[in-house]
Amino acid sequence: MFYIELECNHANKTFNNRFSFDRFTNTWCFCRVVNNILKLRNFNLEHGITHIPLELPWSSPGFVNIYFIEDTNGLVMIDCGVNGSEYLKLLESKMTSYGISFEDVKLLIGTHMHSDHIGLSSTIRNKNIQFALYKNSVDFIDGYNDWSIRFKQLKHYAKNEGAPKSFLDDLDQIETPKYAGKLSKPDVLLDEGRTKNINRNIEIIFTPGHDRTEISILDNPSKILFSGDHILPKITPFIPLEDPTDDMLQKYTSSLDKVYNLDQKLIAPGHGSIIGNPYSRIEQMKLHHERRSEKIIKLIGNSQLSGWEVVSLLFPRKLDALNLRLAFQETMAHLKYLENNGKVKHLMNSKINLWETTKQV
Ligand SMILES: [Zn+2]
Repeated sequence: MFYIELECNHANKTFNNRFSFDRFTNTWCFCRVVNNILKLRNFNLEHGITHIPLELPWSSPGFVNIYFIEDTNGLVMIDCGVNGSEYLKLLESKMTSYGISFEDVKLLIGTHMHSDHIGLSSTIRNKNIQFALYKNSVDFIDGYNDWSIRFKQLKHYAKNEGAPKSFLDDLDQIETPKYAGKLSKPDVLLDEGRTKNINRNIEIIFTPGHDRTEISILDNPSKILFSGDHILPKITPFIPLEDPTDDMLQKYTSSLDKVYNLDQKLIAPGHGSIIGNPYSRIEQMKLHHERRSEKIIKLIGNSQLSGWEVVSLLFPRKLDALNLRLAFQETMAHLKYLENNGKVKHLMNSKINLWETTKQV
């Protein structure tokens, strides 16, 4: 049920588990559970676009935003929610209330390969609706379907970063959530720019960082950007280290720059409410990561620390297994980014690797 934390939390605010996360001081503190941040409210986007917020099996965020965009020969659906017959029923009844049926839908696009966005996709494909993901999704289907594959590399990496046995054992016990459904190769593999499957002037923009397959979708007639989890209101998406060779934070910041350069009026995100000030929101999100990187450099100071020690300093509060994994992955993503930017060095040892800053501070 906490899969969503892997997706979208970890930043300014984490509403699950009764934590809030202060964006600038990076300290965890208790707060009351806030359940009403995502209201069951439909946005009136006009331009032939219908928005349906669909419940998720967890409370924060409690909804995923599903969009239907009119094209000349049917509707293009963006994201679909988690797997499960109860969620299908819920979606169908909401669609009916907006006069939409699956027969009207010609294409389902998944913004990225997380269960809250594409879990229900195989069920929808069975209704003769084509399913599209970004073209590199084929490389990650096995990992999506089997989390023991997905986290295999991470375990090895964590061991070398000084993670304790309990953490490594927890990684072994991760199971693929039932909400993910089963994925097979998409019918349509999207590339950047226009796609022949859509007549309307819609552009696909590859925006990896939160997920390696993430896309944003720009509807040129309305100048609305459908951002998936790349840009969210109030919360900043979790940036994971999954493959140790992949600098996900670099990818993420480049993707923010890419989207910043688009001509857009509104951002329609994968969770939460419409973002009416796209450019300042993107600036805020960049600032959040810059500040966290600066904090990591300060924490290392003149010491040589293992990755695990950096995690413990950055997240001093006791965390449950899930949040600890998220904290580890995000800290490692920052260290990788700082290393690639010449700010820290990774000292490879035979036992435990260490990190030090390049300038003594
Ligand atoms: Zn999400």
